Amino acid sequence: MFFIGIFGIQNKVKELKEFTDVCCSCGKYSRMKLLYEYNCFHIFFLPLFKWGRKYFLEARCCRRVFEVPDNYIDELLEADTVDFSRLTEINMPYTLCPNCRNYVDSGYKFCPNCGSKLKL
Ligand SMILES: [Zn+2]
Ligand SMILES: [Zn+2]
Repeated sequence: MFFIGIFGIQNKVKELKEFTDVCCSCGKYSRMKLLYEYNCFHIFFLPLFKWGRKYFLEARCCRRVFEVPDNYIDELLEADTVDFSRLTEINMPYTLCPNCRNYVDSGYKFCPNCGSKLKL
């Protein structure tokens, strides 16, 4: 018996929360998404454990992405507004697939989930 495809490691991105606030970098009133990234070890599609958790905030107006520090995440989940002084701007690690709405690594030219071409 071989078990290829039965267990594996996946890198997943989840959307946790959406904020409506003024963007720090372009000044527009906009929507910001709080994203949660983790690596997941699964067997039979059953997630067993997770590690490498990271939180990001994505501003939709200017497509900037900020990393949320661990000591701010609990507070941010409760809050209605975003304190940008506590976030660090990073390069966009993900692209949202226009077809299946999954977040995929921005290094991909085509979506690994549905095969759609990703715009640059
Ligand atoms: Zn902006
Ligand atoms: Zn897709």
